[in-house]
Amino acid sequence: MKGIAASPGIAIGRALKKKEKEIGVQRKEITNVEKELEMLHEAIQTAKEDLKKIEEKTQERMGKKEAEIFAAHGMILEDPELISSLEKKIEEEKINAEAAVQEVFAGYGEMFAAMEDEYMRARAADIDDVGKRLIKILTGEQDEMEDLHEEVIIIARDLTPSDTSQLDVKKVLAFVTKEGSRTSHTAIMARSMGIPAVVGVGGDLLEQVSDEDQVIVDGNEGRVFINPGTDTTAEYEKKLKRHLEEKRRLAAFKDKEARTADGKRVEVAGNAGNLLDIDGVLEEGGEGIGLFRTEFLYMDRKEMPDEDEQFEVYRKAAEKMGERPLVIRTLDIGGDKDLPYLEQPEEMNPFLGYRAIRMCLDQPEVFKPQLRAILRASKYGNVKLMYPMIAFMEELQAANKLLKEAKNELKEEGHEYDNSMEVGIMVEVPAAVIIADELAAEVDFFSIGTNDLVQYTLAVDRINEKIAHLHTHYNPAVMRLIKQTIEAGHRAGIWVGMCGEAAGDELYLPFLLGVGLDEFSMSAVSILGIKEILSLWTVKEASELAEELLTLKTEKEIRTKLKEVQKAQK
Ligand code: PEP
Ligand code: MG
Repeated sequence: MKGIAASPGIAIGRALKKKEKEIGVQRKEITNVEKELEMLHEAIQTAKEDLKKIEEKTQERMGKKEAEIFAAHGMILEDPELISSLEKKIEEEKINAEAAVQEVFAGYGEMFAAMEDEYMRARAADIDDVGKRLIKILTGEQDEMEDLHEEVIIIARDLTPSDTSQLDVKKVLAFVTKEGSRTSHTAIMARSMGIPAVVGVGGDLLEQVSDEDQVIVDGNEGRVFINPGTDTTAEYEKKLKRHLEEKRRLAAFKDKEARTADGKRVEVAGNAGNLLDIDGVLEEGGEGIGLFRTEFLYMDRKEMPDEDEQFEVYRKAAEKMGERPLVIRTLDIGGDKDLPYLEQPEEMNPFLGYRAIRMCLDQPEVFKPQLRAILRASKYGNVKLMYPMIAFMEELQAANKLLKEAKNELKEEGHEYDNSMEVGIMVEVPAAVIIADELAAEVDFFSIGTNDLVQYTLAVDRINEKIAHLHTHYNPAVMRLIKQTIEAGHRAGIWVGMCGEAAGDELYLPFLLGVGLDEFSMSAVSILGIKEILSLWTVKEASELAEELLTLKTEKEIRTKLKEVQKAQK
């Protein structure tokens, strides 16, 4: 079966189907109303305590925003109207507590499902989740996913946040869901936990699979095989073996400092969008966070996170990183990311429009609280601040002016911050490369964002599939801009990193090393491989190669040359 490749990796194992939870509740007449009410209240109390624990665990693992859903579930159980409906149902109809819960929650769920507002409609799923939790407690029914004894591949219609937060990740080999998209909760969780997943399989997935069936999940290609033939199994066993061997080999690099063959120290860091990603980066041996994309904190919610809420997240991130660097990038919204609660104009060319630093400078009431929150967090670790999308000197000056104002305010209010916190910019617009000498004089570091630099240099929309083959960092113009940026940075005595996708590209690595990149920041999954390749190159070899690559005229020649030397190395 084919679905969406939501989280990479391969798994072979036995299926465990998540049961659909309607079953198990019988409506029974009761005589002892008091006893039934007592059971109801005890169950509510237990559910609230469980939710509190899950909330704390999730907050620790993923952050406040992710944990909020469980606080919201807890609040449903505080609702006096709901509680009195439950009590009345038991008293008046003289029925057992679980049947009362099922009927009352179903009524509430339907009410929400019928609402106009999309956000409220989505809350029906939360009501359902809470109702099922109560019924489970009342019936004493064990959740088949809660206490896993052996390794399994979980097959489900979809997985709720409650489901995934309970899982023993060591026992779950993969997820397969009938519903969901790449950005659905299951997909995000799977990627964060490093578990292969295929979602949105659709069709009759749930009818086709039974518990104990042999299943192969290919999270790279988005394929699922149920009771596969011997050929397919043999093919995938080979793939899995190769994958595990590589993992073992690379594990040796986890605690090693990233160095070239001749001992030059280079920093290999990771990109993160939330606190859980930071754990992922550290687990893979990342030496810093070269890009903390803060926009995810602002997305998927109804209103702007305030200064305190942001501060909490940045502080936690800084504490997790300790002495290791944490580069926090200010809000990069617009382009393909928008916020429902911010008035954003309909634009013909959103990537050339009201985006990132442009929007922030236009709305200091949005920008200033973020600057203040980052400053306040700077006291708790090795925080660096980075502005996205700088194209004009005026933008850098205006942003720094606001930063200065924020510092003065904090000082007056008695808040502490690290006054020597480094401030840098993303170099992702060609104009910034052209004036890189002047910009370098005003900042502490550059980080090259190749995703946008390629888009703006080559005039190739980064999300248009039709021209995706043209969006490439193997383009000679892009490669010259990268070299220019690094040279300008070094002339001014500042470090230059890269946090675009190109930084995690193993084939490309000798070029970046050869032109003198100081820091490479990438998705967690690429870190160990990049550390290994780095250890194979000397600076001299890499710079000679980079020089040669810069004389080549086409992408094809550049790739061919790199593949040649890659083969010769391995
Ligand atoms: C980039 O543009 O390369 C980058 C790292 O930023 P984002 O992908 O978030 O635009
Ligand atoms: Mg960018």
